[in-house]
Amino acid sequence: MITVPGEYCPLCGTDLDRVTVEGRERRHCPGCDRVVRQNSKPVASVVVTDGSRVLLGKRAVEPNRGLWGTPGGNLEHDEPPAAGVARELREETGVRVDPDDLDLYRVDHATREGRSVVGIRYVVPRAATDGEPEARDETLAARFDTLDGFRDDGGISPWSRDLLTAVLE
Ligand SMILES: [Zn+2]
Repeated sequence: MITVPGEYCPLCGTDLDRVTVEGRERRHCPGCDRVVRQNSKPVASVVVTDGSRVLLGKRAVEPNRGLWGTPGGNLEHDEPPAAGVARELREETGVRVDPDDLDLYRVDHATREGRSVVGIRYVVPRAATDGEPEARDETLAARFDTLDGFRDDGGISPWSRDLLTAVLE
């Protein structure tokens, strides 16, 4: 499985050709005689709420460096989504949560940087988390604030705006 259109087989490196399967043109490896499917990339994020405030991290890395975003990111291949988002929350803000305390909020879909992305979004109240937010490796800062507060302090990542508005309305 690949998340961008591939030219070579990820297993054996042979040039891929094209076949029609289930009514769609798909890439096929003549070496392995297998269809190489292109799939969406799964990502997960969490909105930690404290009344009208939310926990965001100011991104230290591209894309959207310098903007505030919801903690989250790519899932490891062997990682359940709730466990992955708890890991990302800890890595980006220092705040800990038991994956079992996360509530699934929605599953959405978008195209980002040419890739099809399926977003798995969780919410959790601050009272169910442990620890005070602080900057970590991938964040310049992390704190609870209102959306207006984050807008006045550099702005909110376009990838998080829609979700945050939906959660807080
Ligand atoms: Zn192959």
